[in-house]
Amino acid sequence: MRVRVLGSAAGGAFPQWNCGCDNCRAVREGRPGFLPRTEDSLSVSADGRSFVLVNASPSIGEQIRRTPELAPANGVVRGSPISAVVLTNGDLDHVLGLFTLRESQPLAIYATRTVREGLEKNEMLKTLARFPGHTVFRDLQLGALTSIEGAAGEATGLTVTACAAPGKRALHLEGSTEPSPEDNVCLVLASSVARVAYAATFGALGDFLGNLDGCAAAFFDGTFHSENEMATRGCGDKPAASMAHLPVSASIDALAGVRVARKIFTHVNNTNPMLDPSSSAARMVREKGFEIAWDGMEVVP
Ligand SMILES: [Zn+2]
Repeated sequence: MRVRVLGSAAGGAFPQWNCGCDNCRAVREGRPGFLPRTEDSLSVSADGRSFVLVNASPSIGEQIRRTPELAPANGVVRGSPISAVVLTNGDLDHVLGLFTLRESQPLAIYATRTVREGLEKNEMLKTLARFPGHTVFRDLQLGALTSIEGAAGEATGLTVTACAAPGKRALHLEGSTEPSPEDNVCLVLASSVARVAYAATFGALGDFLGNLDGCAAAFFDGTFHSENEMATRGCGDKPAASMAHLPVSASIDALAGVRVARKIFTHVNNTNPMLDPSSSAARMVREKGFEIAWDGMEVVP
């Protein structure tokens, strides 16, 4: 099993186009240690031939272009080793890339029913349904082990289990549908040899952590380091809780107790001080045994 971090930033990426905070200035200036990041996404493969993406970020085109294993195989004129996409929620930062993946490429999309129904509200989805079998939606049932297959049923050698993680529905769906435990999920992806967990967004700790024991690696919500970071940075007054993100400083001690070989924070917002590897925030994270994801990072359990 191979896992590649395609993107490791929260919405807005790093630097964010309209942000002049200290971090965004530092990465634009190329200051040592500051790495540009795109919106959070993974590619996962059991066999090195077919790949499953976790989330489809707005930067998916760039993410695929810089990842050689995601290019068409030698001799393939039209086609992709990407078989399926699994969605953690309906946030635009996790679904906009689906529209970049059109080009008449058959694809399977795994999402909870509420996330799929949110997508189906949009007329643009028709561009992914140009012929029968173009895009095949398959519902993720909470707690159920699901085999991941390509659009035509091709095996990938991977399974996924989704469990509810405390979060909130996609901003553009608020008020139009009832909140549901299916709005935001943690995924456990497994091959015959290893399990890897992806819990990139959660507003509180919860039962989902119980499913992670024994995983070779787990990705956790690293959006914010502290509750009022946005205000501290001069980037508005929204506390982390209002966006359903539990800050690292509040989660790290509990997460340290989860029995997982590698613990990695991802979905890092551009305001987060731990983006500076020499900061006390980054040092604290490393000292507690955690890693901070970066674009291109590979995890081979
Ligand atoms: Zn910024």
